[in-house]
Amino acid sequence: MSLRVRLTILYSALTGGILLLFGVLIYVLVSMLLINQVEDNLLQTFNDIIENTRVDSVGDLNVVTLPQLDLTANVYVQIWDANGRLHSSSAGISRLQQPLDPQGFQSRTPLYRDSYIQAAHLRVLTVPLVVGAERRSAGVIQLAANLNVVDAARTALLQIIAVIAIVSMTVAAVASWFTIGRALAPISAVTEMALNIARADDLSNRIPYQGTADDEIGQLITAFNDTLERLERLFTSQQRFLADVSHELRTPLTVVKGNVDLLRKMGCADEESLSSIEDEADRLSRLVGDLLLEAQAESGKLPLKFTDVELDTLLLDVYREMRILARDRVKLKVSQIDQVPVLGDPDRLKQVLINLVSNAIKYTPPGGEIILSLGKVGEQARLIVRDTGPGIPAEDMPHIFERFYRAEKSRTRSKAGGFGLGLSIAYWIITNHGGQIEVASQEGEGTTFCIWLPLLRSQRSESSIPSE
Ligand code: ADP
Repeated sequence: MSLRVRLTILYSALTGGILLLFGVLIYVLVSMLLINQVEDNLLQTFNDIIENTRVDSVGDLNVVTLPQLDLTANVYVQIWDANGRLHSSSAGISRLQQPLDPQGFQSRTPLYRDSYIQAAHLRVLTVPLVVGAERRSAGVIQLAANLNVVDAARTALLQIIAVIAIVSMTVAAVASWFTIGRALAPISAVTEMALNIARADDLSNRIPYQGTADDEIGQLITAFNDTLERLERLFTSQQRFLADVSHELRTPLTVVKGNVDLLRKMGCADEESLSSIEDEADRLSRLVGDLLLEAQAESGKLPLKFTDVELDTLLLDVYREMRILARDRVKLKVSQIDQVPVLGDPDRLKQVLINLVSNAIKYTPPGGEIILSLGKVGEQARLIVRDTGPGIPAEDMPHIFERFYRAEKSRTRSKAGGFGLGLSIAYWIITNHGGQIEVASQEGEGTTFCIWLPLLRSQRSESSIPSE
């Protein structure tokens, strides 16, 4: 769930919660006030009645009169004698023969209770009447007030509170949604820009921000841009260092190789030592060449000269050259080849092919097989280099195109192992041709590299799907 949704839910829930709490408080207070008022009224009427009530010598009730009851039309009265007979009741309920509050009727102390008689909600005050010092029972008096008006007021209040809570929650949700959206918009821009930088591998980009640099978002963007700047500086100096060192190393290496030739011609040194020096110098030359290429590629100084390239011709060239390298050790063959023209730099594409095929030859044990195939799939050219070598361990697969990365085993495998630069250069070349390079491998069963390149525009409509 996004931060925006979470904050919106939080704010509207908070608003609703506070309003509901406030509403419940008001509801309880108003209810108490109304009930208190009703009870005061009942008590007042009771006092009036008691003033007019006498008990005769035998102990019978003798209510002189109930005139005040007419004045308080909302109050009903029942007076029961000591024998449980209805002595008198107010006008409106003269037909009612049961107590106004049957449950409270037996109470020995004055008591307020709610009672429901014939669907009417009543508040009933029950007072047991006692006479004399011996507190002899003289009957019971019950006074009731209709709570229908109070109930209606409470229901209306509840509805108003609910409506206010729902309306304010909706208003809070809408307002939060827009304000949070506006507040978070720069963060989305930061995310988008960070993703762009990662996608394009371009540290020179900066996040634009129109707002003030003092607020939290401004500070975040400034910090992010500062970090980018620092990274860019570090990265540039690393590239420059790499380019300078590899450039500087080329001359002494040429001198070493020249001197080896000279010593060989003069015949004054052991041939085995000379060959060893020569091999190492060649290896170093390759490393220096790769390093220079890598540095140029990363700094964008490796120009690609695009022309129409017959990928099939290129593949056959590489096949012929590499067959010499494979000798009888491994079998190198082409399983399928279609005419596939693409737009690209022939030298660089050839370099990629040579790298993939020489890797396959290098890592496949004697007796193994390397199969090359080229065809069209949709609007793309698909070139496959498959070998029956040792495969690449699953943990190495995600890093295989990183520079200087070598699968652990290959470091110890042989001196023939390279420096882990070939595939990262191949990756750079293919992605800069608008293509993709993929690898699939099963340890112990072999590796398959697959290159996808866009076909030449004129070829796209005639493309076909080759059979495997
Ligand atoms: P290197 O010059 O070391 O071969 P690469 O960048 O060309 O460098 O390859 C990186 C690593 O990928 C190699 O060290 C090797 O471990 C692994 N690798 C590449 N191709 C194959 C293959 N065909 N079979 C097995 N492992 C391979």
